[in-house]
Amino acid sequence: MTRAGESALTIGWLYPDLMNIYGDRGNILTLYQRARWRGLEARVVELGKGEAAGLDEVDVFFFGGGQDREQALVYDDLLETKAEPLAEAVRRGAAVLAVCGGYQLLGHYYQTATGERLPGIGLIDVRTEAGSRRYIGDVVARADESLDLEPTTLVGFENHSGRTFLGEGVRPLGRVLRGYGNNGDDGTEGVAVGNLFGTYLHGSLLPKNPHLADLVIERALGRRLDPLDDRVELDAHRRIVERELAGRR
Ligand code: GLN
Repeated sequence: MTRAGESALTIGWLYPDLMNIYGDRGNILTLYQRARWRGLEARVVELGKGEAAGLDEVDVFFFGGGQDREQALVYDDLLETKAEPLAEAVRRGAAVLAVCGGYQLLGHYYQTATGERLPGIGLIDVRTEAGSRRYIGDVVARADESLDLEPTTLVGFENHSGRTFLGEGVRPLGRVLRGYGNNGDDGTEGVAVGNLFGTYLHGSLLPKNPHLADLVIERALGRRLDPLDDRVELDAHRRIVERELAGRR
């Protein structure tokens, strides 16, 4: 596990073969490349089913999305081989970014549209239950002020049947300006709990939100990073915000 002053970043990719949809792999590439552009030695450790070793060396965990079928294939392994070392890593300050299906399984449970309840690892105080229709489309969210992000927006693409409800006092990652977010009702999107970030934003998320990518890396390293020239990324971000807030839903 890297800490302030050291020059390496270890990225732990949970279930890369099963939980990886709608461009989620792009988040791994973004974390890896943005670390390298700062002169950090970066490496990616794949943590598939049955892999229990090496979690203690990880600085940033990434957990992508997956259809109900894939979630049903990984939830038991997550409980049996990953839950404790992941909780321990988070206690020590590792960062976690989880998208959609991965985000759901970090909570207490995900109940599918057929009523099957997949237990989660309860790392975050949220619960998710599938509704009758899917929430699909582009999303623009206003990031929670506590994150001090600039730009203050996050953009991405959502496609989920799950409705996630936050426990008392759980801070959302942001509030939706366009789209459905956690549950289509309370206006919240994702969670931001310490160094743990959950979201419904696919796309992939980080290439169009370099400010969030840096926040995740900074939280893992426990220090600020030198800024990069993100004009291309932020131009793409701004165009999506303008397009989506121009009255499309
Ligand atoms: N299967 C979950 C749902 O439908 C997650 C989908 C996803 O990761 N995009 O809500």
